[in-house]
Amino acid sequence: MSKTLIVANWKMNPKSFKDAAKLFEMVEKNVKLSKDAEVVVCPPFLWLRELRSKKLSLGAQNCHFQMSGAFTGEVSSLMLTDAKVEYVILGHSERRQMGETDAQINLKVKTALKDGLKPILCIGEKEDEEINLVLERQITQALEKITASQLEQVAIAYEPVWAIGTGKACSADNALSATLFIRRILTKLYSRFLAEKTPILYGGSVSSENCAQYLDRSGMNGLLVGGASLDADQFVKIINTVSKR
Ligand code: PEP
Repeated sequence: MSKTLIVANWKMNPKSFKDAAKLFEMVEKNVKLSKDAEVVVCPPFLWLRELRSKKLSLGAQNCHFQMSGAFTGEVSSLMLTDAKVEYVILGHSERRQMGETDAQINLKVKTALKDGLKPILCIGEKEDEEINLVLERQITQALEKITASQLEQVAIAYEPVWAIGTGKACSADNALSATLFIRRILTKLYSRFLAEKTPILYGGSVSSENCAQYLDRSGMNGLLVGGASLDADQFVKIINTVSKR
């Protein structure tokens, strides 16, 4: 089984590099990482070259699918690997909300893999949507023409949109149903072996109080943490709780 993956999505936070460096340093100093766990910090692009650590890996929050060119405001996956970034969050619901489509996410997954990045593919339903329909569509389209050996570099983050930043975390039972369904789709697209091997993370109002259940009772292999990753004490507590499992 793969390592437990704990991903911090800082989004467009904190407000200054001074605060970002302090947060990063506090996490690095206080975290007790077992060899079976990996922590990935995803700050805004601007600080990716500045935040370096032997303990914490780095991820970007997005990338473009073209290598270079007239794409104002964008950053390519090649630029990210050149900056020694290892992971990239793709298909986050906040980006889908800004108009990103499944087809564009598929292009990004392909380019990121080609350039040596490990995609963390976010999927999840809105409150009024039929969960299985949404998950099947998002997974199938994002992974179109991704080979079995490429899939080994991909993690999937199940993030129900209604749970992101709302304090309404998904129950352990519902998260378990989502895990089983995602593995069923991956089995259909690839194989049972690969479906079991692909890391599935939970994201959506994760806190130090609710984090353990997703690994203990929902069959998840890690967490994607937004708000709570901006508080060093909370985030360290989350890491120290789940990395022992
Ligand atoms: C996220 O942004 O991916 C997320 C899960 O946010 P939060 O933990 O704040 O709900």
